[in-house]
Amino acid sequence: MTKTAVVFSPKYLCHKTGHRHPETPSRLRVIMRELNKSGILGNEGCSLVEPEIVSINDLKRVHDIDYIQRIKQFCRCGGGLLDREDTMVSPESYDVARLAAGGTVKAVDLVMAGKCRNAFAFVRPPGHHAGPNYPMGFCVFNNVAVAAAHLLEKFSLDRVLILDVDAHHGNGTQDIFYRSGRVLYVSLHEDPIEFPLTGFADEVGEDDGLGYTVNVPLPYGTDDRIYLRAFNEIAVPIINQYKPQFILVSTGFDNHYADPVGNLSLSALSYVKIFDAVLESASKFCQGKLVAVLEGGYSLRFLGKLACAVTAKMAEIPYVIHDRHRGAGVKIRKKGEKTIEQVKKIQSSFWKTS
Ligand SMILES: [Zn+2]
Repeated sequence: MTKTAVVFSPKYLCHKTGHRHPETPSRLRVIMRELNKSGILGNEGCSLVEPEIVSINDLKRVHDIDYIQRIKQFCRCGGGLLDREDTMVSPESYDVARLAAGGTVKAVDLVMAGKCRNAFAFVRPPGHHAGPNYPMGFCVFNNVAVAAAHLLEKFSLDRVLILDVDAHHGNGTQDIFYRSGRVLYVSLHEDPIEFPLTGFADEVGEDDGLGYTVNVPLPYGTDDRIYLRAFNEIAVPIINQYKPQFILVSTGFDNHYADPVGNLSLSALSYVKIFDAVLESASKFCQGKLVAVLEGGYSLRFLGKLACAVTAKMAEIPYVIHDRHRGAGVKIRKKGEKTIEQVKKIQSSFWKTS
């Protein structure tokens, strides 16, 4: 059995966002180049898998049919700016976005069928900002949410964890599962005060979903030390109490200090530690069943290496990454520690933290 499946198609490069847009096809080009160059792809522990287009039925569990039709029509008419901000699409984007959502479903199906232990879906456009009826922040269809809904419906799971480690709050994912107790959404992200204006610590879910949304908003400039403290003291204990049946990781590499879009200051170390912990939880609670889905990450210099560090960890292939760590100032650290205590206090009515 292959340990790790890498889901990718060159068709993902056909979603065009225009000149100088950070969410460029080159993101996947650098990732695939590095996965090949490093020998991770080609190693017997890791194999490349072609995605399939998502069915409308799978898509409809998460998005309104009117919204799906609107995207189709808009792309067929030539594309352009989908929202008032920065979500660009080209004529091909509807099909590519369906292939992106299909890539995450494929990854989940492979893992559920025992064809691999875990998988990384390297897809674009990304998904976690897209809600039931809106595009946002470069996202068209919510890939990770489609995969989670597929797990709930097709496999009748009741405890699916979505861990979101993109630099930005996954407002769309939160929105989609805010009233569901069958999906635990845990997100660590930069202070959402400028974007996306959701993801504050007191957003904890509603109705059946009360307590199943965990937001950890960290100050701009947060470094490995504070981030990993928040992760180990809040996310890990909550995940262990939840005992997930499947783990999905919305993996954005825009937390990195060199990222031109994100405002945090992590090095590769955080990604390695996050996956160390989450792979351990997966093996403890769900026979290792884990799918990572690419979200953001825009530093073309580091993106390939960061993706390799995570994929190698998942496949248990040695990979060395040299990455300089830039620490945060004392002021930021103090602010970060205050936030951690604040989140713990809010979460204490639902979960034990350490
Ligand atoms: Zn992001």
